[in-house]
Amino acid sequence: MMRTRTMALLLAVILRLTCTFALFAQEPAQAQRRIAITIDDLPAGAANSMTAGEILEMTDKLLATLRGQKVPVVGFVNEQKLYKTGEVDDRIKALNRWLDNGFELGNHTFAHTSLNRVPLQAWEEEVIRGETVTRQLLAQHKMKLRYLRHPYLDVGADLQTRREAEAFLTSRGYRIAPITMDAWDWMYAGVYDDARKRGDTALQKQLVDSYLSYNTAVFDYGEKFSKNLFDYEPRQILLLHANWLEADHVGELIDLLQKRGYQFITLEDALSDGAYSSPDDYVGEGTGWLDHWAITRGHPAQNTPVFPQWVIDKSRDLHGQVPPQATPATPY
Ligand SMILES: [Zn+2]
Repeated sequence: MMRTRTMALLLAVILRLTCTFALFAQEPAQAQRRIAITIDDLPAGAANSMTAGEILEMTDKLLATLRGQKVPVVGFVNEQKLYKTGEVDDRIKALNRWLDNGFELGNHTFAHTSLNRVPLQAWEEEVIRGETVTRQLLAQHKMKLRYLRHPYLDVGADLQTRREAEAFLTSRGYRIAPITMDAWDWMYAGVYDDARKRGDTALQKQLVDSYLSYNTAVFDYGEKFSKNLFDYEPRQILLLHANWLEADHVGELIDLLQKRGYQFITLEDALSDGAYSSPDDYVGEGTGWLDHWAITRGHPAQNTPVFPQWVIDKSRDLHGQVPPQATPATPY
C-alpha cells in the first residue's frame, strides 16, 4: 500500500517536471510581442474596378484566413465605394461578412478625404457621411461605431486643425486608430492584380517574395525604433489594405509575425498601451505614430527601410503617374 502511494507520488512529480520542461521548450526565444491588425479601404481598395461578386470572393478568402488564424481585425470603410448601380446590396453584403465573422468595422471617411487637403468643416462632413451604413450594420450586430482611421494618415496640416478635428471626433464618440507599422501592400496591390488576371504566376511569386522581405525590414526597423523611443516594444498596430494580395497571402504575413514572437491582439488592447498617450504634436504629411512621437521629441527617423523601386516602376507603368488610391505625395 505504502509502496504504491510512494510510486504514485514519484510518478506525479516526474509528470509535473516533464510538463514544466515541455512548457519551457514551447516558449518562443524572443520576448512576447503583441500586434493589432487593421485593414483599410473597405470594401476593397480597388472597389471601383471590381464587380460586387469579385469583392465578395476576395472578402471571403481574406476573412477565412484571418478567422482560421484567430486574428482580430478592425476594417475601415469608405462608404462611397458601396454606391455602384445595381450592386449596392451586394457591396453592403461584403461589409456584413466582416461582422458576421466576428470582426469590427470603423470609419475611414465617406470618400477617403485627406484632412490636410480640405477645410476642417468639409472633412467633418465626410466623417459624418461615412457613418451611415456602417453604423447601421454595427447596430444590427449589437456593436457601436468607435474607431476612425485618417485617410492617408493625414491628421492635419497645422496643429489647430489637428486639435479641432480631434475634439470633433471625440464628441462623436470616436477613438482615433493610429498605426505604428505600415506594410505598404497598396503599392503592390495593383501590380499583383494585373499579374493575377494575366495568369502571370512568376511575377505574382516575385511580388509576394518582395512583399514579405520588405515587411521583414519594416518589422526589424519598427521594433528597433520602438525600443529606442520607449525602452520597450509597445503593442504595435499594423496597417494593411483590403486587396487580392492580402486575400491570397495574408497567411504568410501572419506566419512571419508569429515567427518573430507576435501574438495577435485587438485594437482596443493595443491602444491600452501607455505609448499611445505619449506627447504628439505632429502635423504634415501622413506617417505612422512612431514618427509622430519621435518628431515630437525632436528625433526624426533615420535609415527607414527602402521600398523596392521596381515595384513602384511597375505600378507606374500600369496606372500612369500613380496607383489609383494614392495621391502623388501621400500613399495609404
Ligand atoms: Zn485608406
